[in-house]
Amino acid sequence: MTIKLLMGNEAFAWAALEAGVNVVAGYPGTPSSELVETVARLHAEGTARGVHVEWSTNEKAALEVAAAASYCGARALFTCKQVGLNVASDALMSLNYVGTGGGLVLFVADDPGPISSQTEQDTRRFAAFAKVPVLDPSTPEESYAMMRQAFELSERYGTPVIVRPTTRICHASTFFELPEFTDARPIPEQGFQKDPKWIIFPKRAFEGHGEVNRRLARIAWDYAFTPEFAQFNHVVEEPGSQQLAAGGDANATWAEAAAQSGHGHGGTAMPRGKVAASGESDVLAAADSNEGAAARVGIVAGGVSAQYAREALALLQQWAAEAGAALPPYRFLAVGTPYPFPAETGARFAEGLTDVLVLEELDSVLEEELLKLAGQRHLPLRVSGKLTGEAPDRGENSTEVLAQRIARFFDRTAAADTAPSEGGRATATEASAMAGGTEDQGASCAAKDGAGNAPAPSGLSALTERNLAASASAPYEGPLPVRPPVLCAGCPHRGSFFAIKKALGKTPAVFCGDIGCYTLGNAKPLDAVDTCLCMGAGITMAQGFAVAQPGIKAVAFVGDSTFFASGMTGIANAAYNGHDITIAVLDNATTAMTGSQPHPGTGVTLMGQRRKPLVIEEVLRALGVECITFANPHNLEESTEAARQAIGFSGPSAIIFRAPCIQLKRPEAPVAINGDACTGCKKCIRDIGCPAIGFNPAAEGLRSQHRGQAFVDTGLCDGCGLCVQVCPFDSIQGKVAEPLGAALHAALGVPIAPTAIPSDGPTGSFPPVIFEGETPAEAEEDIDD
Ligand code: SF4
Ligand code: SF4
Repeated sequence: MTIKLLMGNEAFAWAALEAGVNVVAGYPGTPSSELVETVARLHAEGTARGVHVEWSTNEKAALEVAAAASYCGARALFTCKQVGLNVASDALMSLNYVGTGGGLVLFVADDPGPISSQTEQDTRRFAAFAKVPVLDPSTPEESYAMMRQAFELSERYGTPVIVRPTTRICHASTFFELPEFTDARPIPEQGFQKDPKWIIFPKRAFEGHGEVNRRLARIAWDYAFTPEFAQFNHVVEEPGSQQLAAGGDANATWAEAAAQSGHGHGGTAMPRGKVAASGESDVLAAADSNEGAAARVGIVAGGVSAQYAREALALLQQWAAEAGAALPPYRFLAVGTPYPFPAETGARFAEGLTDVLVLEELDSVLEEELLKLAGQRHLPLRVSGKLTGEAPDRGENSTEVLAQRIARFFDRTAAADTAPSEGGRATATEASAMAGGTEDQGASCAAKDGAGNAPAPSGLSALTERNLAASASAPYEGPLPVRPPVLCAGCPHRGSFFAIKKALGKTPAVFCGDIGCYTLGNAKPLDAVDTCLCMGAGITMAQGFAVAQPGIKAVAFVGDSTFFASGMTGIANAAYNGHDITIAVLDNATTAMTGSQPHPGTGVTLMGQRRKPLVIEEVLRALGVECITFANPHNLEESTEAARQAIGFSGPSAIIFRAPCIQLKRPEAPVAINGDACTGCKKCIRDIGCPAIGFNPAAEGLRSQHRGQAFVDTGLCDGCGLCVQVCPFDSIQGKVAEPLGAALHAALGVPIAPTAIPSDGPTGSFPPVIFEGETPAEAEEDIDD
């Protein structure tokens, strides 16, 4: 065993490998990608033995690979980010009815914020929609334990199980004790057993739905009482100082259950000697001095918010103590198994409480469960959170934000409580008032005065505000560096966008973008992305524009990885329906945005094999695209001509702009600006917007006089030479990239001119469909050329 510092996603990978996972398949997407990369690295090093790992072409493909492996009795792991689950959802919905064999875990990373996603969708919500159990870790340590238990849960019930971390869990790091090697679990000798249950006919679906409903009820019970799963739901009483072991007696009252559990952290299973959550320890330690008080209010938190809440409560306790006060008695529930909700744990938590604040990221999943619980069991419980405006309705939480929200909650609930302070000890609210806080306890945090202004913080809220302000670092007063999201200096996509616009000239056009680095083509001055919806949508949306507004040229942009992931169906649709669109394939030989992962066009796999790469132009031709042109996007003349030819074609056409991502190659020598020649016209800046070109208004030259001059940041310049071709005064000196087309066209035999399309077309065509009363010859004649 060795101790190593691991990122959360690396820990997930190790946990899966230690659980004996046989097959790992995913599609890259931040914040999930490092898991598959870690498995691949450990496999390549010889540490992870017997595992198969792959980047599949998209999430649906990955889940289906994993599902079949599970049918054989293998343990399988699928990975994606939250929006990737949308792509895999068709498979998931049916798979859940059919069931699994070996443990099948779906690692789906959510992105609150969002930091690098097109939506803030909540996978807990998706899990409930799909009726798939979900685990929601609050720390990297808990992630480790959850991943292992997820395989157990999957095999116990024959269900896929989702593990849903959020960005901060995926990317936080801590120490783990790790084995020297891991071995995949032997696949059962009998392998796949043929059985009608694997075939989802309607009758099987009806049966399967019943199985799903029954197992969810049993899993909810396990989440509440079976120690290996209930360990992820922690209840802490403060004061009263006792933690309810979630696996206690189902019939015990809250007090009885608390008494059963004792003071230990029985519910916090940390892998191999990890430190328990510090906030929780603090709460318990302080609670010992308040033995006997009964909590009337409670806090529920899920996922990483549970850890933020623990830290926030520890801070509030510290600040209250410094002010000579104590926090009110409260109960805390951390939920690590949000679906199916462990209702029995929730009921025991809620016993005797009148007010509960729910803290979670993204949707109001736990809040709604608490409301449902209160309704079903007729509990006199007021539930607050996102739905009442007392918790942020979107985005990430933080310790500071939750400290503010909890302080307001304590103030509001204290205001409703007219009981005198316990034991003569001042409450935090009273202490704050003594220390200068405003005594305005009746105001709810959500309430506003007649003018719509939020009330001034008071009581514990004021104490919290003051402490947060005091601990905040001094605001920076100077100018901040400007870092707009732009394509890198030397990025080949810049030339592609510019050439398309140049070729179009004044032709009205709509630019349908897609998901990838090239979404940044929307930034000025390129301004070449008018729509962006989801993976592969640019190609199909362009067809909608072509149909609805035929007078406007519809151009779709798609990257090489997205082409294989989600583009091909749309291209087939364009060819089949004869839609007049131009598809610009921005082929930079990698999945650049998520960290340069390989894809089917790169010819390498995660298992280290060299494969025959799928050739984009061959796929385009096979899908029925008859006009395909090529260009090196760094060569403006060739790019513009290739764009003109494709745009001028009537029907679906494609331009392949081919040059590697700057991350995959050595930079060329930077270009230089001739100060004697530069006129200060700024065309190089206004046309292409390369971040390596700046403008010095103080620079003077023979031709620029007092207008200023452009300059090149040689530390950024990649030497692509695009600006050299843009400057109308030949003021930028540097190498211009060679054209790609001629050599490529000769090698591939692919025509550059639409007029040179071979007449034989694709092979393997089927005979035409014969309508009633037609002869085969008539059907042949009726084919629309
Ligand atoms: S380098 Fe060329 S394009 Fe740029 S400002 Fe000078 S003259 Fe104009
Ligand atoms: S050559 Fe010009 S366009 Fe290319 S990276 Fe350098 S400054 Fe930017």
